[in-house]
This record gives sequence, C-alpha cells and structure tokens, in this order.
Amino acid sequence: MNADLERLIALQKLDSTADAARRKMAAEPEHELALDARLEAKRQQVAAAREQVAANKNARAALDKDVALHQGRLSKFREQGMAVKTNQEYHAIQHEIAFAQTEIKKIEDTTLEKMMEADDQAAALKTAEAQLAAETKAVEAERRTGSAAHIEMQATLERIAGERAVVVAGLNKDVLATFERVSVKRNGVAVSEARAGVCTICHVRLRPQVFNNVLRNDSILQCDHCNRILYYVPVPASAATAPIDPPPHPAS
Ligand SMILES: [Zn+2]
Repeated sequence: MNADLERLIALQKLDSTADAARRKMAAEPEHELALDARLEAKRQQVAAAREQVAANKNARAALDKDVALHQGRLSKFREQGMAVKTNQEYHAIQHEIAFAQTEIKKIEDTTLEKMMEADDQAAALKTAEAQLAAETKAVEAERRTGSAAHIEMQATLERIAGERAVVVAGLNKDVLATFERVSVKRNGVAVSEARAGVCTICHVRLRPQVFNNVLRNDSILQCDHCNRILYYVPVPASAATAPIDPPPHPAS
C-alpha cells in the first residue's frame, strides 16, 4: 500500500477516536444537569411528603384545641345546670350541652380520620426518603463512572495528539492538505473505504476506472462525489473463493 495512504488511514482512525472522545466530553455538562434534575425530583417528593405530614400534625393540634374548648364549655354548662331555677333555663342548658357534645363527637371523628391519614403519610414519607437515598446512590455511582471516563478520554486525547504528530510528520504536505480540506468539509471524516465499486460513506458508485485504481491502493484517489480519499481492503484469502454479492445498483 502507498505509504501516505496508509498514514491517512491511521490519521483518520486517530481523528475519529478523538472526535468521539470530544463529543462525549462536550455532552458531560448536560449529563451532569440531568443527574442534578433526577436528584432534585426525588428531593421535592420528600419535601412534599414532609409538608403533608406537618400539615396533618398542625390540623390535629387545632382539632385538639377545639375539643378542649368545647369540653370547657361543656363542664361550664353542667355546672350551670346544677343551679338552674326554671324549666326554661334547664332546657336552654340541656340544649347547649347537647350541642357541645355533638361538636366534640364531630371533631373526634375528624381527628380519627386525620390519624389514619397520618399513618399513610408517614409511610409515603418513608418511601420517598428511601427513593431519594437510592437515587443519591445511583447518581453518585454514575458520577464516579463519569469522572473515570473523563480521565480516560483526556488520556486518550493526549495519546492521540502524540501519535497524530508522528503520523503527520511523515506525510506528504500536499496529501495532508487534501486530507485536512476534506476533513473540514466532511465533518471530520476524510477517508472512506471503497467496496464493491461504491464509496462506503456517501454510497455513490465510483467510475469503474477509479475503482480499479483504488483496488491497487498505490495512489491518493478521491471519491468524485464526496471527495473523501479512497482505499480498498482486500478480501481475505479464505473468503476470496466465495462468491461475492453483486454490487447494489443505485437509481442515479
Ligand atoms: Zn464518497
């Protein structure tokens, strides 16, 4: 194989690996925000559950106060009942007593409901806290994995920079210029394998004469359509005798 072509293939491999690492690193802040959001959602669930527990507690305290109030009135009426002089007074007091008793009964029923609610709310709070703990653990694990991957990608980028400099140093300047030009225009991919008469990246059929030249791998040839530099991977000897699938026929 042409030595420059071989270097270009190596260069492309390095560039593609570096690109992938850079893309992953660029996505890190967004991933970090997503992790924060996951934690925040669980924290809010816990806060909401705590608020419900607190509201229930306050409501029960208020009910207790009301009961005490009515009980106070009840004993006052009972005392007054001892001292009534007329039938009318007696009935009026009895009426007040009955009213206070009804109120107390109503409040006690509500208190009972609130106590049952409190049991459910305490269980919900426990569940929310357990979920927050589990999510915190999961997010911490993801962050550790992320930092390890970050360190690894940085090391990869440094290694690639070194290897790239060596490859570039050996390359013909014009060939390198062509590579860089195509790379910039084609989203960082300047080299393409030609297979069965087709450029495997843009999928356009090569002129037979071009493909025949590419088969030899002895010169720098570009795809007429995407301008990428073409190379050919010979079919392994064991597969050479097997029938090759007929090349697809593009519409154009
Ligand atoms: Zn092409």
